[in-house]
Amino acid sequence: MSFNIAIDGPAGAGKSTVARKAAKELGFIYVDTGAMYRTIALYMLREHVNIEDEEELARALDRISVSLRYRDGIQHMFLNGEDVSSQIRTPEVSAKASLTSAKAAVRAKLINLQKDLAARENVLMDGRDIGTCILPDAQLKIFLTASVDERARRRYLELKEKGEDCDLASIREEIALRDYRDSHRESAPLKQAGDAVLLDTSDMDADEAVRRVVELARERMRVS
Ligand code: C5P
Repeated sequence: MSFNIAIDGPAGAGKSTVARKAAKELGFIYVDTGAMYRTIALYMLREHVNIEDEEELARALDRISVSLRYRDGIQHMFLNGEDVSSQIRTPEVSAKASLTSAKAAVRAKLINLQKDLAARENVLMDGRDIGTCILPDAQLKIFLTASVDERARRRYLELKEKGEDCDLASIREEIALRDYRDSHRESAPLKQAGDAVLLDTSDMDADEAVRRVVELARERMRVS
């Protein structure tokens, strides 16, 4: 049986950095489910799909195939066979993903892909509803969070480092809006699973958070 680790938490908490490094240390496959929602959002943007129209959305979803492949341990996302791994990282796609992911039909499309991966392999999967909906029996669940101010500060520094022109107040606003949407939607809202370990990284650097995740995983692997 595979060993599954679920990491959930709000936007910008550092989940993907921590999850990627912890998975590498543990020899697990890192599955970034946000990238799957982003891939669907990219299609909706490109094709100008009105996602509020249920029939139009259903027809669009029928035309989409989302798949992933690992190259040198890095997850690449494919939209109808095209590698869109870099195109899904724009602010427009972030904003659109937070709207499209609230639709039950969109979530339904990705559930089996996520569950199948976890059934076959030892995975460390991150997202918003992994511990609550996708992998309710995961051997370890972690809810990784940090204050909105700290998350905005980190995102600001990240963008500055890339040489992008950005403004701290609007980044904070965008993160707060995504938090609100993710945790107030009807379909699989972001919330901490009852049996998840809370890891608040507001005063912790990424290496410290990775150490904690790896420690928790090794403890659980010993007892299970
Ligand atoms: O984690 P990331 O920011 O890449 O996710 C993009 C968007 O996808 C999130 O804002 C959230 O709305 C959605 N998402 C989700 N469920 C997941 C992972 C991501 O609804 N398991």
